[in-house]
Amino acid sequence: MKSEVVVVGGGAIGVCCALELARRGTEVTLLERGEELASGASSGNAGLLCPSHSAPIANPASVRNGLRWMLKPDSPFYLRPRPGVASWLARFVKASTPARAAEGTRIIRELSVAGLELHAQLAGEGLSTGFERRGILNVYETEAGFALARAHADTLGVPAEVLGRGETRELEPAVGERVAGGVYFPDEAHCDPLAFVYAVGRAAREAGATIETAVAVSGLRRSNGGLAVDTSRGTIHAGTVVLAAGAWTSQLAAPLGVFLPQEGGKGYHLDLEPAPGDPKIPISLDEAHVIATPLPGRLRLSGTLELAGLDTSISRTRVEAIRRAAARVLAIDGERVELEAWAGLRPCTPDGLPVIGRPYGVEPLVLATGHARKGLSLSPITGRLVAELLAGEPPSLDLAPLSPDRFRPLLPSFRR
Ligand SMILES: Cc1cc2nc3c(=O)[nH]c(=O)nc-3n(C[C@H](O)[C@H](O)[C@H](O)COP(=O)(O)OP(=O)(O)OC[C@H]3O[C@@H](n4cnc5c(N)ncnc54)[C@H](O)[C@@H]3O)c2cc1C
Repeated sequence: MKSEVVVVGGGAIGVCCALELARRGTEVTLLERGEELASGASSGNAGLLCPSHSAPIANPASVRNGLRWMLKPDSPFYLRPRPGVASWLARFVKASTPARAAEGTRIIRELSVAGLELHAQLAGEGLSTGFERRGILNVYETEAGFALARAHADTLGVPAEVLGRGETRELEPAVGERVAGGVYFPDEAHCDPLAFVYAVGRAAREAGATIETAVAVSGLRRSNGGLAVDTSRGTIHAGTVVLAAGAWTSQLAAPLGVFLPQEGGKGYHLDLEPAPGDPKIPISLDEAHVIATPLPGRLRLSGTLELAGLDTSISRTRVEAIRRAAARVLAIDGERVELEAWAGLRPCTPDGLPVIGRPYGVEPLVLATGHARKGLSLSPITGRLVAELLAGEPPSLDLAPLSPDRFRPLLPSFRR
């Protein structure tokens, strides 16, 4: 079998690449190993589409808090000590300077603003993504945290309203009395992550893409100027392969000599039965690193970044820590029925920036991964950038800082 382009991975990034390519008339086949689309991180994230949250994971506060939290089983950041993580961590610390974090924030914000507009356009076309522009509310439990947020609110590059305790509760009555204050971003939005992937997948199919689920890619080989894609259902010859396999992308790219240092940043959600007093606006408990998102039929509480390889097992200790943190601010009692506890892996590069582009020396390959905490927000702009790259058009945003070639292997075993 042949296809002009094969996209590997049916998460938010993969379906957006397939949609943009199909709409430009490219023959595209998307392969997802799960029984359904969104079998990775994209099904269960918090759903926020918020340029205000654009700091890369590599920043001075992560290193500061990370050292404090690293080995504590109920903290928002956790590192499971493994030999394999050491070199990633060394790159992460090196990238966490104030200057690099500021530049990373600028880049992610620019992508995020473009992504938000494309999310709005997709919803405007009638795609059922659950898109709602109700804003995002950051709340602070301590005076010190609120003071810091207040001081930085006008540096975030998006409209922001600083609210005292009373104003915060007036805007969102679900917030309890114990908060010090909040910052509201009225232009921001959220969507239903699973509905988004399904809707974009359907639109890609309608635009002519072939979408295959339950097909696992086992390897990529050079073949006749393109790539042979070996799968659980045979081999497909592709002119170009777009690797959008999330946290699993590095291992698929490695046999082609491509070095991509990426770790799975495990996060959890706990979905609770909805209740009448639940928030209408998504709430970010900034100090606890927990987000509460009102979704159809559920209140989703999510959080934690755990560097634990490709392990997706669920730690009840962390799930309970997320629930306890949310219950400090929202009316969540012990009686509230739990619908689902879930874990997913954010694809995390050590500098916290996505990887979008062709790796040097492997012309028929494009990488589209590394979106860490922002993959849902950035998925439509990533699809657009990938389609522009394949069409040879000038990119609508600068791809240089996202180049796969910015990483150099420490050992010389990778071909360059
Ligand atoms: C708790 C949590 C909260 C988050 N909140 C937000 C948020 O509010 N806003 C936001 O923008 N982002 C958020 N994120 C981040 C976001 O979920 C990710 O960045 C995004 O889902 C990554 O998308 P992806 O398509 O790259 O990867 P994935 O969704 O993981 O998709 C990769 C797909 O590739 C498939 N695959 C892998 N290997 C193969 C193979 N060999 N063959 C075939 N298929 C394969 C997998 O099955 C998977 O479906 C959050 C993440 C978590 C965990």
